[in-house]
Formats: sequence, structure tokens, C-alpha cells
Amino acid sequence: MKKRTIAFDLDATICNSIRRFHPEDILKVKPYPKMVKLMRELKAEGHEVIIFTRRGCLPNGRKLTKKWIKMHDIPCDKLITNKPHYDLLIDDRSMSPFNGWISTGTVESQIELIYEQMKKKTYRPRKK
Ligand SMILES: [Mg+2]
Repeated sequence: MKKRTIAFDLDATICNSIRRFHPEDILKVKPYPKMVKLMRELKAEGHEVIIFTRRGCLPNGRKLTKKWIKMHDIPCDKLITNKPHYDLLIDDRSMSPFNGWISTGTVESQIELIYEQMKKKTYRPRKK
């Protein structure tokens, strides 16, 4: 199996969102067990697991997030804390944590599906 790099958003993906501008919430939130299980499985399969968040903009955001990751034994090969703010992410290699793929398929099958759609150009915007 090809080793993949899998990036996870943090708030509302691995755990409940923390209140804006409340870094003291970072150590209080509980991770979603299903997501942590998936991350551990991916790590055990040899994939690189990255956490991508914008908590770096909070005072001690990076330090507290690192501590939280360690507290909950969440696999994280790289922590990126300078994610920009956005209201919608449009990305050709993204999956929503809400669409059920976690329980219905493997990461490999989801990646293959995206690649297939990209090849067929069903995933790309049409040229004018
Ligand atoms: Mg989020």
C-alpha cells in the first residue's frame, strides 16, 4: 500500500470547536473517539498524519494544542497552526468528516475515488 499524507482539520473535525478567543478551552475539549480511532489506524498503517488548524492565532494556541494532542495520545507527525480563516474550503483532495466515509470505506478507496473523478474531469471546473 502506498503511504499517504493525511491532513486533519482540528476544530469540529477531531473535537468540538473551542469558543473563539478562549484558549483556555483547548485543554477542556474532548476528542471524537471515532476520529482518534481512524487517526491511530492510519498511523499504524504507516501513513503520515498531519493536524492543520488556525489555533496559532490564539495566545499559547500552539503550545496548548500540542499539550492536548499529547494528553489524548492523538497521532500527529506534524502540527501546522497557521491555517488561514475561511468560511468555505474548496479543495480537489478534500473529504468532509460528516459524509460517512469514515465508517463506510477505507481512506485508500476514498483517495482512489477522488483520483478517478479527477481523471474523468468530473471533479474539475469546465474551461470557458
Ligand atoms: Mg474546523
